[in-house]
Amino acid sequence: MPDMENALYVVATPIGNLGDISLRALETLRGVDLVACEDTRHARHLLDHHSIKVPTLALHQHNENEAAEKLVRLLGEGKAVALVSDAGTPGVSDPGARAVAAVRAAGFRVIPLPGPNAAIAALSAAGLSDPRFLFVGFLPAKVGARRTAIRELGAVDAALVFYEAPHRVVETVGELVELLQSQREIVIARELTKLFEQIERMPLADAPAWLAADANRQRGEFVLVVSGPPPREDMDVETERVLATLLAELPVKQAAKLAAEITGQPKNVLYARALALKARDL
Ligand code: SAM
Repeated sequence: MPDMENALYVVATPIGNLGDISLRALETLRGVDLVACEDTRHARHLLDHHSIKVPTLALHQHNENEAAEKLVRLLGEGKAVALVSDAGTPGVSDPGARAVAAVRAAGFRVIPLPGPNAAIAALSAAGLSDPRFLFVGFLPAKVGARRTAIRELGAVDAALVFYEAPHRVVETVGELVELLQSQREIVIARELTKLFEQIERMPLADAPAWLAADANRQRGEFVLVVSGPPPREDMDVETERVLATLLAELPVKQAAKLAAEITGQPKNVLYARALALKARDL
């Protein structure tokens, strides 16, 4: 193995199936002086599986700044260091960004080794025809903030990709059904690359019943992909006039609510249109 360059290698690791690791990732993990990882036991499992004996250093959400300083020191001594997270690509809904920023600021090279990522894996098997997607990751945990986020996302002209934990998936899916347009579809991708992998596409409105039909469907790790909004039918002139008038005086949510009462049009459609009108006027 040639000498490794004095750099930080950001290495994507499997999201379930231990075989999903690139030859370059294995060569790099074998060659570096140290592997910084979210959970040392978790990383050790992967390293042992490939008979890689390299020291590890914990770098997680709660010690990222101190650990980053250590990485910079080691790089200053000419070492080669790898960064991995528990699963998938570091820095994607995982620690790593702050360490990468510190290393870059200190003038060292950061070399990405692309590989597994749950969002991309789900999208690749979703078969949606949307030309664009927005990676949302985890929605806010607090109900109010989460509902606001979903409403705002409803106006984005792209498929939406969410990460969700099993204890919240039913609630989140219920809110997606309530707050997004009913013509949208959802792909529920759970346990990707693992024994009980399941990837199901259905109309958004059918998702709560699908989840409720079998408790096993609510277990494991989830990516939710929601297809983009249906092509906007042009709103009739009168509805748009009412909405625009209210919007000139009121916040988006209130304007949409009142416009829905006055015109009889669906509130979520008016909300999405109000956000678009507002964005146009900014
Ligand atoms: N860095 C990772 C990546 O590149 O995808 C994501 C880490 S984030 C802390 C963990 C979340 O990713 C899980 O809660 C789940 O939403 C999603 N995820 C990770 N592995 C998954 C899998 N095998 N199947 C489905 N979702 C997965």
